[in-house]
Amino acid sequence: MNRTLKIAREFHWEMGHRLPFHTSGCANIHGHSYRMMVEIEGSCDDNGMLMDYGEMKRLVAPLVDRFDHCFLCDENDDLMKDFLAGTPFKHVIVPFTTTAENLVFYFLDELWNIFLPYQQITGLRLRLQETEISYAEAERSREG
Ligand SMILES: [Zn+2]
Repeated sequence: MNRTLKIAREFHWEMGHRLPFHTSGCANIHGHSYRMMVEIEGSCDDNGMLMDYGEMKRLVAPLVDRFDHCFLCDENDDLMKDFLAGTPFKHVIVPFTTTAENLVFYFLDELWNIFLPYQQITGLRLRLQETEISYAEAERSREG
């Protein structure tokens, strides 16, 4: 019998950003209370565990800490880069526009590399919520 299951743990952080290309509200400096559901798929060990939830937290927390209470800055946003360079404010510069879609792909690739050594894990899915009513979702598996 070949059974798989999924378990998930949610992570939260606060982050500012803006979308320079946007022609409406999103071009302004603003922030979100991000929520990310990290879902892993695979098979259980003899103790009935795919992975300890505490282990999931240990693996994901450094990524969340890197972004929590930062301003996420598109490397092409010279206006913000020039401003931030003269401040002590926490910021992270990334090589993409900071849409939820790009962010979920970025986090997916970062976390895939972290979860990949755990052979029992066959798939990873992230659901990134920017607001209460919107999310972006992406997934990877060993097959793909
Ligand atoms: Zn936004």
